[in-house]
Amino acid sequence: MTLATLGRAAIPPTRVHEMDAVVVGAGGAGLYAALELKQELGPEARIGVISKLYPSRSHTGAAQGGVCAALGNTEEDHWEWHWFDTVKGGDYLVDQDAAEVMCRDAVETIINLEHLGLPFDRTPDGLINQRRFGGHTRNYGEGPVRRSCFSADRTGHSILQTLYQQCIRRDVAFFDEYQVLDLALPDGPGGRAAGVIALQLATTELHAFRARAVLFATGGYGKVFKVTSNAHTLTGDGMAIPYRRGLPLEDMEFFQFHPTGMYKLGFLLSEAMRGEGGFLVNDSGERFMERYAPTMKDLASRDVISRSIYLEVAAGRGIGGKDYVHLDVRHLGAEVLDKKLPDMSGFIRTYFGLEPLTDLVPIQPTAHYAMGGIPTDIDGRVLADEKGALVPGFYAAGEVACVSVHGANRLGTNSLLDILVFGRRAGKRMAADLADLPEPTVDAEAEASAAATVSGLLAGTDGERPAVIRAELQEVMFSKCGVYRTDRLLVECRDAVADLRARARHLKVDDRGCRYNTDLGEAIELGYLIDCAEATVESALARRESRGGHAREDYPNRDDAGWLKHTFASRGPKSGIMSLRYKPVTITKFEPKARTY
Ligand SMILES: Cc1cc2nc3c(=O)[nH]c(=O)nc-3n(C[C@H](O)[C@H](O)[C@H](O)COP(=O)(O)OP(=O)(O)OC[C@H]3O[C@@H](n4cnc5c(N)ncnc54)[C@H](O)[C@@H]3O)c2cc1C
Repeated sequence: MTLATLGRAAIPPTRVHEMDAVVVGAGGAGLYAALELKQELGPEARIGVISKLYPSRSHTGAAQGGVCAALGNTEEDHWEWHWFDTVKGGDYLVDQDAAEVMCRDAVETIINLEHLGLPFDRTPDGLINQRRFGGHTRNYGEGPVRRSCFSADRTGHSILQTLYQQCIRRDVAFFDEYQVLDLALPDGPGGRAAGVIALQLATTELHAFRARAVLFATGGYGKVFKVTSNAHTLTGDGMAIPYRRGLPLEDMEFFQFHPTGMYKLGFLLSEAMRGEGGFLVNDSGERFMERYAPTMKDLASRDVISRSIYLEVAAGRGIGGKDYVHLDVRHLGAEVLDKKLPDMSGFIRTYFGLEPLTDLVPIQPTAHYAMGGIPTDIDGRVLADEKGALVPGFYAAGEVACVSVHGANRLGTNSLLDILVFGRRAGKRMAADLADLPEPTVDAEAEASAAATVSGLLAGTDGERPAVIRAELQEVMFSKCGVYRTDRLLVECRDAVADLRARARHLKVDDRGCRYNTDLGEAIELGYLIDCAEATVESALARRESRGGHAREDYPNRDDAGWLKHTFASRGPKSGIMSLRYKPVTITKFEPKARTY
């Protein structure tokens, strides 16, 4: 199909691909799932990985500091301690059965990755080396423990390369630079999934992938905020697509702001810089985290440190009275900075023109990680509602999913662990389920609607440019739905998002060509960002308490009696009406307690 023939009517896609299973997303979660599918089903299985980016450009490759497992290689550690830290880090909103699976499976998963070829840093004895990270403690909170396994400060890069090479070796079929536009649900919302519809970015052609099982592993949506550590492409596509079809999103109000973003740029300076001994100082040179978190100090959990920075700034103790503080790593010396943190040191030199050995580094909190997402069980199966009904054939894993192992706040290094453990488990589960899933049938409505979206966008001449609306959305989300929230700010934010949604119905796409039309891709992504923003703000407005990454100035306390529950936000696909439902938190061992560090 050429653009000339694209119309608003139902147009059959140019190419149909028959697969056994498709994985959308080639980050750590998607690749591990694809590898597992091939391993379980054998070389004949038709497993496709569809990715809007070339696989090695996925955001997993940007992860720096490490991936945790209680290996106990450099000091005593136990998976039960890790389990407790994860539950406490998540401000007790974590489903404890799921976190138990993650922390137990962690040890075997890291060893499996090492056997697949991942080049971890070593101790002098040849064991996998481990470093400290925020919120990871020994003996249920007594002090920091070395639990993060790493490959210098390029851990995600090593994970991605290792898994990609293994997938290539096993002949996984890759569809690189295909942007998925919709999920095939031929029996309607709540029915089974039967494939996806994607736009080939090189040619602007539509492709239908028919498969008995579909995994979404499309990562987060940090680009909804103005200052963020996330890559340009993290626009929440995988969350918005099922949301548009009436499926719920879980705990979207919980978004993590990482304390050490580079001032104004948002690029991340890994927590590993504090794990190796760096600390934060205010305008008078005071190590202020000692006041807020006397035991863990600069290694308290991220939500606590980000709020502390805001409070310092609000009290006029930001640097020169401005909205940032300093990270001090000067004392770490050249050996640590250049061998264990080479990329971080390079960022500081390149982007700030500062020398980390002699200069203080300006930092501010940056939007970093989505705790919420598509609700799943511990095997990646997608939940259709808060009561636990499943969507047959539909799976999700990685940052796009909410298992929920991170609850209200994720601990550093637990995300790489999450994508590995649950990516792998989802792949295994899909392989086991495949024989019982029906042959895929066509979702003509979804295919026609994808064609209409593309042709409609390319026909628009009098609307606004997507980039203008995106910038306003990012600004309003960062200033009104950020580290601190109030009823007034959230209502203003909700109204602004609704207004931007209305404006986004008339977009002008400058590029009308068929070759790598990134303008078109970004117009489509804007719609996804708006959907994610809506679910985030509505969920945040309703939750009248402060917990983990959701801090309300008007409701400053955690309220276990009223709010120890997960939010399920959905929107009627035809009515457009939002509804919020709630699901109890699974508590198996650790009763909620006051959370101090
Ligand atoms: C700068 C930075 C540093 C980090 N450091 C750490 C760390 O040290 N430790 C840690 O535990 N966590 C870290 N994190 C978090 C962690 O890296 C991510 O949460 C994790 O890598 C997400 O992996 P994923 O597989 O879910 O998705 P990603 O790696 O983000 O991959 C998403 C994939 O989905 C594809 N995709 C998206 N939309 C579509 C679509 N519409 N159609 C087709 N394909 C699509 C993309 O092409 C991509 O392949 C860091 C994050 C950032 C941003």
